[in-house]
Amino acid sequence: MIPMIDLKKQLQDIKDEAFNVLRDIVGSGQFILGQKVSEFEKKVASYHGLREAIGVASCTDALHLSIDALDIGEGDEVITSPFTFFATVEAILYTGALPVFVDVEPDTLNIDANLIEENITKKTKAILPVHLFGHPADMWNIVDIAKKHKLKVIEDCAQSFGAGINGKKTGSFGDAGCFSFYPSKNLGGCGDGGMVVLDNSKVAGRIKELRNHGSRGSYRHKRVGFNSRLDEIQAGILLIKFLHIDEYNKKRRHNAEIYNRLLPDIIKHPVEKEGSYHVFHQYTIMSPKRNKLQQKLKENGIASVIYYPVPLHLQKALKFLGYQKGDFPIAEKAARQVLSLPMYPELEESSITKIAEIIRNVV
Ligand SMILES: *Cc1c(COP(=O)(O)O)cnc(C)c1O
Repeated sequence: MIPMIDLKKQLQDIKDEAFNVLRDIVGSGQFILGQKVSEFEKKVASYHGLREAIGVASCTDALHLSIDALDIGEGDEVITSPFTFFATVEAILYTGALPVFVDVEPDTLNIDANLIEENITKKTKAILPVHLFGHPADMWNIVDIAKKHKLKVIEDCAQSFGAGINGKKTGSFGDAGCFSFYPSKNLGGCGDGGMVVLDNSKVAGRIKELRNHGSRGSYRHKRVGFNSRLDEIQAGILLIKFLHIDEYNKKRRHNAEIYNRLLPDIIKHPVEKEGSYHVFHQYTIMSPKRNKLQQKLKENGIASVIYYPVPLHLQKALKFLGYQKGDFPIAEKAARQVLSLPMYPELEESSITKIAEIIRNVV
């Protein structure tokens, strides 16, 4: 059996440190917004070359609180990708703003910057690119468009911790970078967690209030906020894993190279654009024979997942937005053809060889 991801293996390697940190935290009696969270925030901010990082309960909340803190809400529009995880759009809707979809690039499946300007209206307040599967979105162009039209940029970096373009990390291009520490992400905790990184201390202050019931402490509430905090236990584990994140990503890249070498050319391989550093949260191929491939892999005990089978504009829950089939042909084709294969730092070459062989036999 080859799984999509093996979380036990990664934790096994840091087990002693992890148990030590858990013992310390349990002994300290400090569980929410304590020393570990502050230390982790400082490290993640500095890793991105930014002044501020705010630990929150999830990336969904990181996005929601960022949009809110940037003063975007009812009556506003946020331009984003129809080919992403549902949470990207939930976060926009929580604030009262509406998502406006723009089709994706056929190669990276990230939002197509060339299609953004024609979708900007008087109501547009922000662009929310997603660095899908760990490949950076077209950030230089997106930031240029945002500057020209005075829009905010909020980056969904849930799948892209450590990715970048020309040495600049995803999350540091826009007004706020939003990360997930969900266990299966490139930097994953032992539970839910998220973080916003940014440079603007005024906006950071607002997010710090929002995560804590609209208060900076001492039971004085400036506004109605939320309960969305990263806890000490997650921060403790994440501090340990953070030491290894670049190495984990390098191993993912190495595994992607092996896949690229062994998979037949008739299968569409994931691309890495010039100057981009892809961290392969997923290794996702495209093929018209996707369903047959998945079936054969399954018969051979190999996991694979379709991220994502239905683009967001065709989701039942978003019917009220008024989109129709055919509105975003590239996203729709992707939904028909994508297949993500097992990918994690500890994945063995022999497993990749086996997977590639099965795929070769089908196509
Ligand atoms: C996982 C994910 C999220 C949500 O992250 P949580 O921490 O689970 O809330 C948002 N956007 C994308 C693209 C994701 O992959």
